[in-house]
Amino acid sequence: MVLKDKKTKITFHHGMRTIGGTYIEVTYENSRIIFDFGSQHDVLETSNNVSLESILERDLAPYIDNIFDKNIDLSAFKNKESFDKKGHMYDNTAVFVSHIHLDHTKMINFLDKSIPLYMSEKTKELLKNVNIDGEFLYPNSYIDAHTRDIIGVKENDIIEVGKIKVQVVPVDHDAYGASGFIIETPDLKISYTGDIRYHGYRKDDTLSFCEKSKNADVLIIEGVSVSFQEFDEVVAEGEIVNERMVIDSIKKVVFDNPSRQITFNYYTTNIERLLNIIDSNPRKVVLDAFHAFILFKSTGVKSYFYSLDGKDYGLEEKYKIDFNKLLKDKSEFFWQLNTEAINYLDKMDSNGIYIHSNAAPLGEYDPNYLPFKINIENKGIEFLTMACSGHAHPLDLIDIIDRIKPKLLVPIHSFRPEKLFNNYGDVLLPESKQTI
Ligand SMILES: [Zn+2]
Ligand SMILES: [Zn+2]
Repeated sequence: MVLKDKKTKITFHHGMRTIGGTYIEVTYENSRIIFDFGSQHDVLETSNNVSLESILERDLAPYIDNIFDKNIDLSAFKNKESFDKKGHMYDNTAVFVSHIHLDHTKMINFLDKSIPLYMSEKTKELLKNVNIDGEFLYPNSYIDAHTRDIIGVKENDIIEVGKIKVQVVPVDHDAYGASGFIIETPDLKISYTGDIRYHGYRKDDTLSFCEKSKNADVLIIEGVSVSFQEFDEVVAEGEIVNERMVIDSIKKVVFDNPSRQITFNYYTTNIERLLNIIDSNPRKVVLDAFHAFILFKSTGVKSYFYSLDGKDYGLEEKYKIDFNKLLKDKSEFFWQLNTEAINYLDKMDSNGIYIHSNAAPLGEYDPNYLPFKINIENKGIEFLTMACSGHAHPLDLIDIIDRIKPKLLVPIHSFRPEKLFNNYGDVLLPESKQTI
């Protein structure tokens, strides 16, 4: 195996045969880096206000020595064996986060404040704003901000952690600011895709990530799509398979229904899709104030907004649309239906259309999804889904592997990682906590 006789060690702590809570540690002598720092999603968890102990007990994230906030007593989790072997302090530890999705970020407030946390500048800015009310990430009562300190990294910049170098390289994914990492130690080159795809707005970034990763010793690749799809699966005629088609389908609904109320929801951090919805829409796109604030902070784009909760996000009044005007409208606006706004719709407004575009609740596996859908349909509104995956299609994953030609392929972040293959070397399916 490629890591034989190397000083670099890689430990796969968590998130190998599941989608969420990826934790991988790379060490070289007295330096170590860890990526990412999110948690697996527990559909039964109704509030973010839970203790770190409860998260670790449910194995939503792994216990790792000397990385969590020292104010929290985790002695119960210290596994004697791991403590004896690896419990020594590293001179340099740093944590890197590939993108904003909660399965990659949700735990960052529990990271000890002495440990630096790096992510792309775009992800940093977006995360700070999305968590402005402290409702996105897990809160930690020992820090006095909603979001702990983060160091933003410019696209393609290299951070040095002792003798480990990490390049933060942008990739295409349905999260603004998503990056992969190219990690070099004196004796090994490792490429980590984060979550990646070709079929969005930044395919060229994914291609250039592949180019930079070429001939990596180890390629750690996400395999979300092969969890559910086969390589030879035929795409049904008209099925939406890329971001372009999402935008075109939405546009068509708007053109075909000039006198129906049309509302929508998208996933908050998919800023690039939102920009394209706004650009391509013949109607005025109106967001709730919170989402208009996030869009403005991330891109400088000012959008129309409405406010039901009266919270002041510092938006310009001239972009404000009276909510009652939206309720009565049939042709001028294309507006975001937030959870509170749903309550104002009644059968009087029937014959409307609602477009669900990868918004929360995401899908039928979420117990909130069906009640949400039925509630909207019960108001006489047609419920349409126009969405596409943030993850590379199965054959695109193989294309990424073919471009990089790694000596060792490590597929993770998948229910069926064994589906991925490597024509250029070995494949490793690591067990949880395995070190190579
Ligand atoms: Zn993601
Ligand atoms: Zn993910």
